[in-house]
Amino acid sequence: MFEYAPAPESRSVVDLKPSYGLFIDGTFVDPTDGGSFKSINPASEEVLAEVAEAGAPDVERAVRAARKAYDKVWGPMPGRDRAKYLYRIARLIQERSRELAVLESLDNGKPIRESRDVDLPLVAAHFFYYAGWADKLGHAGFGPNPQPIGVAAQVIPWNFPLLMLAWKIAPALAAGNTVVLKPAETTPLTALLFAEICQQADLPAGVVNILTGAGDTGRALVEHPGVDKVAFTGSTDVGRAIARSVAGTRKKLTLELGGKAANIVFDDAPIDQAVEGIVNGIFFNQGHVCCAGSRLLVQENVADRVLESLKRRMAQLRVGDPLDKNTDVGAINSAAQLERIRELSDAGSAEGAERWSPPCELPDRGFWFAPTIFTGVTQAHRIAREEIFGPVLSVLTFRTPAEAVEKANNTPYGLSAGIWTDKGSRILWMADRLRAGVVWANTFNKFDPTSPFGGYKESGYGREGGRHGLEGYLNV
Ligand code: NAP
Ligand code: MG
Repeated sequence: MFEYAPAPESRSVVDLKPSYGLFIDGTFVDPTDGGSFKSINPASEEVLAEVAEAGAPDVERAVRAARKAYDKVWGPMPGRDRAKYLYRIARLIQERSRELAVLESLDNGKPIRESRDVDLPLVAAHFFYYAGWADKLGHAGFGPNPQPIGVAAQVIPWNFPLLMLAWKIAPALAAGNTVVLKPAETTPLTALLFAEICQQADLPAGVVNILTGAGDTGRALVEHPGVDKVAFTGSTDVGRAIARSVAGTRKKLTLELGGKAANIVFDDAPIDQAVEGIVNGIFFNQGHVCCAGSRLLVQENVADRVLESLKRRMAQLRVGDPLDKNTDVGAINSAAQLERIRELSDAGSAEGAERWSPPCELPDRGFWFAPTIFTGVTQAHRIAREEIFGPVLSVLTFRTPAEAVEKANNTPYGLSAGIWTDKGSRILWMADRLRAGVVWANTFNKFDPTSPFGGYKESGYGREGGRHGLEGYLNV
């Protein structure tokens, strides 16, 4: 045995300011009524910065700036010129990706290995991809001359702060809209660094506006009458409230909500690969993933073997400092989310499921939850029905493909699913029957800007990514 030597990424590349204003009409401004809140590092509870809280007058200012930019500059601009700005932003993201990755890990708690190798490459790829569409909108399948909608209000969650920003802003701008975006209260800092990148790219003032704040800011933004389009990613409850408030207005709406994906392992699957996929499916990003494979459905005759390998693999996961390059599982994003994970996990034990976590030492400060699996789970258990949004896996078994389909679809959600089998024909048979927007086969949690993403049922409506992702930002 050797002693573990930590390998932390340096945070000196990040230039944190003590306080941040709102990004409106191309500049950072103070909020009208002077409110602010703190963003902390969930791995240490250290305060990172004081961030402005936007109120109704700030929403008014931002929407007006976005309208002016849409009417005067961005709307009339030829697509090939909009594309140049998007390419410039994409290249600046690549140039500053280390800084963005470290800041993302500091503010969110996710491992640097993920922010550096997954989030940031995908963020840049999204801008590159939609830059390519900006002058080809007439070839996207929505008529010869599709028109932008106008001002888009965009509200995003904290699990992939910069990636969700890219999913929202890149297609909106490519299609010729201007935006007002509200990041989540616990993770506003990379959106503010992105605002600096917009300045650096000479993006015309008012095309992108960033309003920091909490739920009330989000509500004021989506309810503002000057907004033409609302795009929301977050919980199903808030999505429902937004759908109600937008109903009866001319606003166009897309919702990307929660999920409770089944990851289905057949007895002919390559077990070692499947175990890697199970681990990636539920422990990637601490399980704060809407499409996380949070319900493992394993064929009964291989269940013991799969669980034994899974436990062995889980014992190897390194939980701790998000900035350590060897960390696999970082911090839970907030005290509130930790509380929710604890509550649901306790309910799992109380309802009779068997709980297991590998021995692992958790840091004293910050918000942490050990990787956990529950076996003996039934479909009626809360841990099999409700989204936990944490590193907690519920394990159920099945005997036949038909039973796997029935159990996989027995959920109010319909975002994603995974299938592990050696047979191509079975993959197609299953994919035809699973009510899920994305179905991965012999892999999990793979994303690409060219591929549309979105859900059925209570997982929302509309698609992000790919050609389809343009539709929500065009009058078609
Ligand atoms: P949330 O509470 O719904 O928050 C999402 C965003 O909405 C945050 O910016 C939040 O602000 C804001 N907000 C809260 N109340 C609002 C209101 N009444 N009107 C307008 N905006 C409001 O969701 P969360 O718990 O942070 O995020 C986790 C959820 O997002 C999970 O359910 C997950 O499945 C879902 N998600 C879905 C996808 C997808 O693509 N389908 C992707 C990622 C996450 P504050 O945070 O500042 O309060
Ligand atoms: Mg934070």
